[in-house]
Amino acid sequence: MTGTHPPTLLGIPFDGQSSHLRGAADAPAKIRAALACDASNLWTELGVDVGADGVYENAGDLHLGKGDPFPAIQAEVGALMERGKRPVVLGGDHSITYPIVKAAAENYTDLTIFHFDAHPDLYDEFEGNRLSHACPLARIMEAGLAKRLVQIGIRTMTAHQREQAQRFGVEVVEMRGLPAYERLTSADPIYVTFDLDVLDPAYAPGLSHREPGGMSVREAIAHVHAIRGEIVGADLVEFNPVRDVGGMTATVAAKILKEILGKMIAA
Ligand code: MN
Ligand code: MN
Repeated sequence: MTGTHPPTLLGIPFDGQSSHLRGAADAPAKIRAALACDASNLWTELGVDVGADGVYENAGDLHLGKGDPFPAIQAEVGALMERGKRPVVLGGDHSITYPIVKAAAENYTDLTIFHFDAHPDLYDEFEGNRLSHACPLARIMEAGLAKRLVQIGIRTMTAHQREQAQRFGVEVVEMRGLPAYERLTSADPIYVTFDLDVLDPAYAPGLSHREPGGMSVREAIAHVHAIRGEIVGADLVEFNPVRDVGGMTATVAAKILKEILGKMIAA
C-alpha cells in the first residue's frame, strides 16, 4: 500500500474519554469552517494548493451511536486504509488515536508515530480508566502497534510516565529540548498524531488542558515541515471550542491541518 491516494478528512466528534472537560466533540465542524474561511487562502507555506480539485477527499463525520465508539472508529479508519486512503482524522479527544492506530497497524507494519503533545499520554490507567485520553500511547505501545514512537514538546512528565516511556522505548523530546527536526525522519510508514495542546495556550487557548511553556505556531509548523518519509495517516485532536477565544484556536488548528495536508499531498 502506498501513499498515492489523496489524504481523506474524517471527523470524529467524540469527547467521552476526556478526563477534565467536554467540548472537543464540536471541534471537527469548527476546524472545517476555519479551513474554508475566506480570511486566508489554501496555499501551504511549502507551495501546495490544498484548495485544488481532488488533492484531498472528504469522508464527512463519523456518526456515533450510544455505547463504545472505538470499534466503529477502528472499522471506519480501517475501511479507508484498505482502499489505500490516508485518513486525516479531526478529533475529538486524544483517546481516539488508539482505535485509529489499531486500524493502521492492520494495514502497515513497522509504523513510526510522531506524537506532538504537552503530555506523554502514557498512563497505564487514569482515574481507573485505561481508555482515557491520558492513556492512548500506553495502549498502542503495549499492544506492539508501532515500532517507534517519537514524542515532541512534552512538558508534563510524571515519574510513572517516565517509567512507561522507558519500558516501551519511547523517544521523548521534551519541550526544553527543542528544536528536534532531525528526529522526524523515518524510512517506515509514518502516523502523525497532533494534540493541539502542544502549542502554548497563548496561541491556542481553546484546549481542555492548557499547559504553559509550549510551542509557538511557528515552531509547530517548522517541525511539521521537517517530517521526512511517507505519512500514511494523521490526526488533530484536543481542540476544545468551548474554551476558545474569538475563534483563534480554530484558525490555528486549520493552519496546522493545512500544512499537514500539504506535506501529504506533496509527498
Ligand atoms: Mn494528548
Ligand atoms: Mn495533551
